[in-house]
Amino acid sequence: MGKKRHECCRDHKLSVFFSGKNTKELKGIKLKDVKGWLKNRFSYNFVHIRKDPDWGHGFVHFENDDDKTRFYNYVRNKKFIGPLSKTIMFAEARPKGGDDDDYDDDDDDDDDDDDG
Ligand SMILES: [Zn+2]
Repeated sequence: MGKKRHECCRDHKLSVFFSGKNTKELKGIKLKDVKGWLKNRFSYNFVHIRKDPDWGHGFVHFENDDDKTRFYNYVRNKKFIGPLSKTIMFAEARPKGGDDDDYDDDDDDDDDDDDG
């Protein structure tokens, strides 16, 4: 059973970036917090979420461009009260490279933890 990379983890076009109102806003927020919130708040399909408690930001990954675009069109330019009452905002994910490549560093736990 090897680890398989999802297509969404290779292609930034299938990701939506999110962050708080400042770089600390989402620190300490766990993947599960975001996932539970997204599932409750939105009825959009997503594959999984990349979020480390140390990060002030994260990514929502989608199966295909349609799903991503539908979601993104809904959330763009809006602020939401996110997990643990934190402000959360969404933006287009940027291509890998430069100093913002941390969404691909380690794939361990996030696809199949259905704790819901
Ligand atoms: Zn992915």
